[in-house]
Amino acid sequence: MYDPLIDPAVPAAQPYPASYWAASTASTEPCNPLMADISTDVLVIGAGYTGLSCAIELAGELGREVTVLDANQSGWGCSGRNAGFVLRGTGRLGLAQLAKRYGTETAQQFHLEYGAALERVQQLIAAADIDCQAQAPGYLKVAHKAALGRQLPQQAEYLQRQFGYQVEYLSQAELQQRYMHNTQAFGAIRFPDCFGVNPLALAQGYAKLAQQSGAAIYGATPVLSWQRSGQGFIVQTPQATVQCRQIILATNAYTGKGFYPQLNRASLPALSSVIVTQPLTAQQLAASGLNHTQLVMDTRALKYYYRKLPDNRLLFGGRSAVYGKDADKACYPERLLVALKQCFPQLQQLEMAYHWSGWVSVSFDDMPRICQSEPGLFYAAGYCGSGLSFSSLAGKRLAQLASGVTLPPLPIYQSGLTPFPLPQFRRLGQQAYYQWGRFKDRYL
Ligand SMILES: Cc1cc2nc3c(=O)[nH]c(=O)nc-3n(C[C@H](O)[C@H](O)[C@H](O)COP(=O)(O)OP(=O)(O)OC[C@H]3O[C@@H](n4cnc5c(N)ncnc54)[C@H](O)[C@@H]3O)c2cc1C
Repeated sequence: MYDPLIDPAVPAAQPYPASYWAASTASTEPCNPLMADISTDVLVIGAGYTGLSCAIELAGELGREVTVLDANQSGWGCSGRNAGFVLRGTGRLGLAQLAKRYGTETAQQFHLEYGAALERVQQLIAAADIDCQAQAPGYLKVAHKAALGRQLPQQAEYLQRQFGYQVEYLSQAELQQRYMHNTQAFGAIRFPDCFGVNPLALAQGYAKLAQQSGAAIYGATPVLSWQRSGQGFIVQTPQATVQCRQIILATNAYTGKGFYPQLNRASLPALSSVIVTQPLTAQQLAASGLNHTQLVMDTRALKYYYRKLPDNRLLFGGRSAVYGKDADKACYPERLLVALKQCFPQLQQLEMAYHWSGWVSVSFDDMPRICQSEPGLFYAAGYCGSGLSFSSLAGKRLAQLASGVTLPPLPIYQSGLTPFPLPQFRRLGQQAYYQWGRFKDRYL
C-alpha cells in the first residue's frame, strides 16, 4: 500500500479500495482528468471532505471560481473509507484535556465549534438530499476497565456542568441491559448527538453538491508541483497546467513525501483498519445485545470502535500496521476479529467479509490546524483519525480564511501544524507508542 512517509507521490487513477462501502454504494460517474490548460481563482487539491466542503463554500457561498483536482476520485482517500462515525470532536483531546491545555472558556468554544461541525454535516446532507443512510443518533464511550468505569459518573457530571452537554452516564448493568453484552465493558457515557453514516455516499454527495454550486472537479489528476507566477501560481499536472491565485491543500494524510515538505514534516500518517463481518443473525444480535445503531468506542490507548450497519453487519476498527508495505498482511484483520470476539464471546462463529485500511494524519500536539502557511497557500490537516465531521467544517473555515473572513478565535486557527522534532524517527516513536499502548491497555 502507498506509504506517505516513503513514496514521493500519491498513486493516481486508482479504483476505490475494496471496502464494504465501495461494494455497497451505488457508483457515481467518475470525474474526467484535466486534459487542457485552465486558469481558476482558487485551486483545491484533494477531493475528500475537506476539499469538497471548501469548494462548496467557496463556490456556493463566497462566489469564488474554484477548481478541485484529485489524483484519484472524490472520496478515494480517508473520506470514502472511514468508519462513518460523525462525532462531536477532532484530534486526540477530549473536552477535559482541552480545558487543561487552553482553559475552560476556550474549551467551551471548542465544544461549540464541534457542534457547528456536526451541523455542517447535517446541513450538507440536507442541502443535497444525500442518501448516506444516516442512523439514529447516539455514541457510547465505553470503559474497558472497571477502574475507568468508576470515573465515568464524575466525567459525565463535568461535561453537563461545564459544557451544558446533555450526556448520560450508564452503569455497567445499564449498559449491558440496554446496549451490549460486552465482557469488556464497565459502564459508558452516552453522547446524544453523534451518528453513523455511509462515508463514501457522503463524499460522493459532497462532490455532487460542489459541482451544483459551480465548482469544477477533475479526477485522476495528480498535482505534480507548483511554482509562483505573478500574483499566483502555475500548477503542473500530467497533461495540463493550472494557473490560479490561491492554492488550498486538502491532501491531509495522503500528502506525498516530496509534495509539500512543510506539511509532510508536521504530520505522522498512521494506518487505521476496519473489518466488516457477515450480517448477524437475529439470534446473534439478541445474544450480543447489539441490535441498535449506537456508535461505540472504548477507552483503550489503542482504541477499538464498532457499530452495526444497516444490513446488520458489524464494522469493527482499530490501529493497524505501522508501514504501508505491511497493511495487507492477514494478521491485522485477524487481530481485529479476535478482539471483537473477546468483547463478544457470543459471536464466536462470526466471519469477516471485508477488510481495508487508510492513512490518518496524526499531529505532534494531537490537534489539527487550518491555516495560511505562506502567502496564497492554505491547508487543513492533522485530525488524528477523528475528522469526519470536523473536516467538513474545516473546509468551510479554509474557504473563509482564503476569502478574508475572520475565523473564530480558536488556537487551531492561529498557526500551522507543529513540525515533529527529528521527523525521521516518527515511525520509531509510533512503534514505541504502540508497545506502550498495548502494555497499558492490558496491565494498567
Ligand atoms: C479506516 C479509517 C476509519 C476512520 N473512521 C473515522 C470515523 O469513523 N470518524 C471520523 O471522524 N474520522 C474517521 N477517520 C478519519 C477521517 O476519514 C478523515 O479525518 C477525513 O476523511 C479526512 O478527510 P480529508 O478530506 O482531509 O482527506 P482525504 O479524504 O484523505 O482526502 C485526501 C485526498 O487528497 C488526494 N491527493 C493527495 N495528494 C494529491 C495530489 N498530489 N494531487 C491531487 N490529489 C491528491 C487523495 O487522492 C485523496 O482523495 C477514519 C479514517 C480511516 C482511515
